[in-house]
Amino acid sequence: MDIEFLPTEVVDQIAAGEVVERPAHMVKELVENSIDAGATSIQVTFDEGGRQVVVEDNGRGMSAESLPKAVARHATSKIRAAKDLWALNSFGFRGEALASISAVSKVEIVSKSTEAKKASQLKVDFGDVSEVLPAGGKTGTRIQIDSLYENTPARLKFLKSDTAESTQIKNTLKALALANPQIEFRIFHKGKLLQFWQKAETHLQRVEDVLDVKPLYSGEYQLEDMTARVFLSAPNNTIGYARQLWFFVQGRWVQDRRLQVALMDAYRNLLMHREFPYAAVFLDLDPTNVDVNIHPAKSQVKFKDEKNAFRVVQRACRSVLEGAPWLDQLLPQKPAMEEDIHFPTPQEAGEGEPSDPSPSLSAASVPAQRGLPTESFVALKTELPAASFKDPEFDRVQYKKPQLFSDIAPGVKNFAPVRDEKDIHPIDVPEEKRGYWSSLEVLGQANLTYIVAQSRKALVLVDQHAAHERIVFESLMQGWREGQMSVQDFLVPLTIPVEPTDLENLLNFKDELAKMGFDVDAAGPEHLNVRSAPALLKESKMVKAFEQLAKDLEEAGDSHAIEKTIGDICATLACHSVVRAGQALAPAQMVSLLSQMDLFPLSSFCPHGRPVYVEYPLTKIERDFGRLV
Ligand code: ADP
Ligand code: MG
Repeated sequence: MDIEFLPTEVVDQIAAGEVVERPAHMVKELVENSIDAGATSIQVTFDEGGRQVVVEDNGRGMSAESLPKAVARHATSKIRAAKDLWALNSFGFRGEALASISAVSKVEIVSKSTEAKKASQLKVDFGDVSEVLPAGGKTGTRIQIDSLYENTPARLKFLKSDTAESTQIKNTLKALALANPQIEFRIFHKGKLLQFWQKAETHLQRVEDVLDVKPLYSGEYQLEDMTARVFLSAPNNTIGYARQLWFFVQGRWVQDRRLQVALMDAYRNLLMHREFPYAAVFLDLDPTNVDVNIHPAKSQVKFKDEKNAFRVVQRACRSVLEGAPWLDQLLPQKPAMEEDIHFPTPQEAGEGEPSDPSPSLSAASVPAQRGLPTESFVALKTELPAASFKDPEFDRVQYKKPQLFSDIAPGVKNFAPVRDEKDIHPIDVPEEKRGYWSSLEVLGQANLTYIVAQSRKALVLVDQHAAHERIVFESLMQGWREGQMSVQDFLVPLTIPVEPTDLENLLNFKDELAKMGFDVDAAGPEHLNVRSAPALLKESKMVKAFEQLAKDLEEAGDSHAIEKTIGDICATLACHSVVRAGQALAPAQMVSLLSQMDLFPLSSFCPHGRPVYVEYPLTKIERDFGRLV
């Protein structure tokens, strides 16, 4: 066959397949044009899985003369020369979107530029461009697409179900709204208002609106030319899939596994398996160091310095999480003072003999409790049903306990010397460090597992094992970070077998390893000499630890891997050296445990991600007792 140039019509259809592979890509192109035109309000209406779309904006608009150019291939108002490609501030630039869309659909554009007196209209019917006609309309642009792909049945066949295409469109619009908080969006689907995102006062507000979750916490971190702004949910506000993790590079929505790994890494030790936070991450950097515009329909991104991109995102997220901002919200305005709390003696409480058929457990017999809200722990107003008193177990539970409480006010039962070797080391928590946890008042221990405490607003149950585990974990990590990790020296170096590639990896990070207390060198091609190691690492765990370390180093390729591995080692160690469930704790131990939690901001989650505490708001308790409706 002879070589021939393809007719424009065919070229356009091929291009259309690439530029607007799916209706959602088309919507993205159209909305980005509106954003580029400086719109502050954008309305998107779609139906039939995006084969019918209207995008309306209040942007600069187009003049009558420029309308035909807008739908011509390689016609753009945004770049003039190849060098502009690398310093791009606008979204579109190939001048291809409208040309491609008009090749495969029926398009109607009505636009009025700021300067023009009247709007103009242009229609394109599967590539057939009409005359420009005068029309009615205000400043801005309205582009209507109908019958998308109707002239290309092959492409039509590749579309997924309307529902699937609609979901993709909704996500695309969410991403656009997340990245453009200053713009108001109205989204209509099948004639119904689906979303209305008002112009947001703050970026945080927009992210909360779009992800439909509140509160989120924000922070920013800078590293060389990169800045990461992040919006994150607390680690106890999660969902079972990763679809609520949103990443943007230079304001463009991207799908990038490394950035997701960086985010999840920041939540390390805070989430349980298969739990994901809500998050939006915005990464901005020198445009010459990133390529996000490989292809308009693709959302992959290429970084010149991938490691720094990972680091800046990880650190931005971690610094937000380490601040544990969610705890601030729980801080009482005024911590309950110890002298405010009075535990009534059995006499004061009017406790009769257990066999007494009419114990007077009424409010009148309880002395006024100074400073304590009436809903406090010792609320004995309820008249107990007489029948209950026949149950000896009930008696024991209901009557003996208050007595125990009164014996050792302020308020701890199950007082017993700690018989276990796993003890809580008393640590003095300096005044300025005292926060939420120190402000709690310990009431007792439930089921030898949970510390029962109260704040002014809630009853708080703390899992003693999880809490202690977190504290030991964090103090081990801190010891390592401050270079105070205790080290064990081996008189005779331990020689451990390693894979040759692992050996190379490990030796490359010799300096980093030294900071952690490891002194290592090669002992032949497949063995490593270990002269010293962190004291917390058992000899028996050494081979496994190095295996893991080498693997992590290869994956993350930097000192970051060491922190992660140390984290894992510390988590394991912490788990095995702390109080367990089922161990009786003395009051002072419980108080000490809680106040130590203030030393480590992340203490509200155990290193395995389980929550350390649960809260029962007093208002809920009141409601359950029918005292509040
Ligand atoms: P690109 O965006 O890459 O320039 P398009 O085909 O998407 O290419 O658009 C072509 C041109 O049409 C744009 O450069 C712009 O000048 C104009 N245009 C498209 N949409 C709008 C709009 N909503 N408001 C104003 N001008 C627009
Ligand atoms: Mg464009």
